[in-house]
Amino acid sequence: MMDSKKNKMIFDIAVIGAGPVGIAFACGFVNSNLKVIIVEKQTKKILENPKIDGREIALTHHSANILKELGVWRYIPAKLISAIKEARVLNGSSKYFLDFKHRQIQKECLGYLIPNNLLKKYLYKRLKNLPNVTLVNGVNCISIDAANKEYSSIQLSNGKKIKASLIVASDSRFSKARSMMGISAFTRDFDKNMIVCRMEHEKPHDNIAYEFFRYSQTQASLPYIKKQSSIVTTVPKDTSSTLMKINNKKFNKEIQHNFNNFFGKMKLIGKRYSYPMITTYSKKFVAHRFALIGDAAVGMHPVTAHGFNLGLRGLEILTKEIKFAIKRNIDIGLPIVLRKYQTKLHRIAIPLYLSTNGIVSLYTNTAASAMLVRQFILRAVNFIKPIKQTFLEVLK
Ligand SMILES: Cc1cc2nc3c(=O)[nH]c(=O)nc-3n(C[C@H](O)[C@H](O)[C@H](O)COP(=O)(O)OP(=O)(O)OC[C@H]3O[C@@H](n4cnc5c(N)ncnc54)[C@H](O)[C@@H]3O)c2cc1C
Repeated sequence: MMDSKKNKMIFDIAVIGAGPVGIAFACGFVNSNLKVIIVEKQTKKILENPKIDGREIALTHHSANILKELGVWRYIPAKLISAIKEARVLNGSSKYFLDFKHRQIQKECLGYLIPNNLLKKYLYKRLKNLPNVTLVNGVNCISIDAANKEYSSIQLSNGKKIKASLIVASDSRFSKARSMMGISAFTRDFDKNMIVCRMEHEKPHDNIAYEFFRYSQTQASLPYIKKQSSIVTTVPKDTSSTLMKINNKKFNKEIQHNFNNFFGKMKLIGKRYSYPMITTYSKKFVAHRFALIGDAAVGMHPVTAHGFNLGLRGLEILTKEIKFAIKRNIDIGLPIVLRKYQTKLHRIAIPLYLSTNGIVSLYTNTAASAMLVRQFILRAVNFIKPIKQTFLEVLK
């Protein structure tokens, strides 16, 4: 809806950021009467064909079901989705491993692996076909005005203003919208970088994911299609530039060595990508006519692959609360609606966030005592059923 004289557009929900979570959230209103607008700073060309960014996203069954309900899953070619059947966690050079098997959750696999650029591509494909969702791309949200009781508004870099009953920000873990609303976040810099890339290897992965916790770095592999894996190396910041710069031949050798020749010969496909390991947890998820979702709410450490999965859980909760309010004729921007979302998401996110950060600290600690503790934990989780079950629950 456009009030052309005032250069204002009026909507029920305005979403800032068309990343995977922002788009998935907007797709959730397909069969509603709500008018949704989504604002993205990237161009349409990039949204239509997102570049490979080295991230291969491990999805839980719950996430796959959400994407099915949103009408996105059917677009993703089955041959580009890989099934993760088993996951093994190893400590240092010890041969002992903690294992999670698909049979333990009574499913045909533990989860799925899909490259991030494909997820984004097919989310966008779905979004484009929705009649009640307007996408404005190539513009930045530059300010938010939440002073009015009846509505909130956002100012765009192209001079336009959007009025909405509810503003939802999904503009990354370094969310500017969060700062504009005066909401701060707990931030932790692990002083490490995660180097991700795709590699081809001589021996098959048998659809098993591996995580090797070495003394100052972690080395993981996620099984993709054919004899290819997503290779994830977490290294201290000062050594990461060397690993990024060495030529492909040396890099292949280095990774092959890190895996103890486990996969035989390994060969880099495409480029390497480096991400700083900074986690964020927003002190509030909601404010007056405002909510944070996705990484803007909780920016997880990628080592346990929960970020997008948690983002989907959050948007599922918020969408349900909004639809529930609409049915009862309740204003969707009211605290009574938004606080329910906040409480429910905290309940899921706090344990995941703290345990992930704890695991990362423990498993990259080089002290002898820490090494012993982690060896003990691997065995304890394997043998004490309730603990292992807690980890497996997340995958369902
Ligand atoms: C190496 C790596 C591996 C990962 N692996 C996994 C995994 O296996 N499983 C998993 O579940 N998760 C994983 N994640 C996490 C996952 O990638 C993120 O949780 C997910 O991308 C978050 O999506 P988002 O939409 O919230 O934010 P983002 O992807 O950061 O998107 C934010 C969007 O907002 C836009 N934007 C920002 N500011 C503005 C503005 N002012 N105005 C307009 N638009 C704006 C940006 O252009 C962008 O499109 C991984 C992350 C990394 C780094």
